[in-house]
Amino acid sequence: MDSASRTTSGRGQLYDNILDTMGNTPCVRLNSLAPEGRTVYVKAEYFNPLSSIKDRLAISIIEEAERSGALRPGQTVVEATSGNTGIGLAMVCAAKGYPLVVTMADSFSIERRRLMRFLGARVVLTPRAEKGMGMYNKARELAEKNGWFLARQFETAANAKIHENTTAREILGDFDGQRLDYWITGYGTGGTVTGVGRALRAQRPEIKIMLSEPDTAQLLGSGTTQDRSADNGPAVSHPAWSPHLLQGWTPDFIPFVLQEAVDTSGYDALVPVSGEESVAWSRKLARHEGIFTGISGGGTLAATMKVAETAPEGSVLLCMLPDTGERYLSSPLFEGIPEDMTEEEAEISRSTPGHQLPG
Ligand code: PMP
Repeated sequence: MDSASRTTSGRGQLYDNILDTMGNTPCVRLNSLAPEGRTVYVKAEYFNPLSSIKDRLAISIIEEAERSGALRPGQTVVEATSGNTGIGLAMVCAAKGYPLVVTMADSFSIERRRLMRFLGARVVLTPRAEKGMGMYNKARELAEKNGWFLARQFETAANAKIHENTTAREILGDFDGQRLDYWITGYGTGGTVTGVGRALRAQRPEIKIMLSEPDTAQLLGSGTTQDRSADNGPAVSHPAWSPHLLQGWTPDFIPFVLQEAVDTSGYDALVPVSGEESVAWSRKLARHEGIFTGISGGGTLAATMKVAETAPEGSVLLCMLPDTGERYLSSPLFEGIPEDMTEEEAEISRSTPGHQLPG
């Protein structure tokens, strides 16, 4: 595109509310990071209104519950979330007038809590030692005691359904008539892989679905099945889980929403990645491509690069980027990124006489 002649002409429509701007996120080609002879695209979910893929799910859960009558006007919504679902729900609840209470382990980044509170939600912290199960059980307790609507992102059919109806349709539409060999994603609830997988298996069965998980929490890789309670929730913490840097990925149980992908061969292979390589790829993506994603986006890209390196010459790969890097300013993603001038920057400052900081 000739940048001197770049113009824009609007979206061709006016929006009645912020929720209608969800989805239609762009698939963007990488121009310097992909291995020779392989083409890598990323689907940048930070183009959603509250900057993550979970905006889709939040809208779906609330609107399905409104349709079924499970959610009454003005009723409080409660959910356990590591952040992005809570932020998405906070947007939906603000736009539609529902009070929201979020339960969250105190190990997740500070900016997530503050963002949700900024949007009017109340955030109840649970001890990190109790892991995902602690925040999950707290949300259930609160819902039962107060008669609140429990969003149940890990079990609800509204989760995979929205990815089948939106995320997958966008991919199929954008790659219509184009080669696509691999689609790569991680999982938190499993909504993305289960929902998109349904549509890809049906309509583009040649596309290989590669599913990534943290190397220190290979729940699916371990082959150990998940014990569930009668309502499909997890009954126990999964033995293969240990802490990992990939916020939003792989809770300490195999979610019911993900189980469908496990049971129906909804993925072709598992690709474990480390927290360190996830951080490294997120940084490379920012510096070499100008594309800004969080740790899970870096992890999905790390997996994509592993697949790309052994994929046949000419292969085309699509990597999901679930959210923005801005959500991780206080996390290991930004470790070593200084606030003050570096020696190199001070040198640049001293190279002309004016406007120098004292000292
Ligand atoms: N990355 C991040 C940062 C997330 O918050 C989530 C959702 N928890 C995911 C990836 C995974 O998406 P899904 O729940 O659809 O599996």
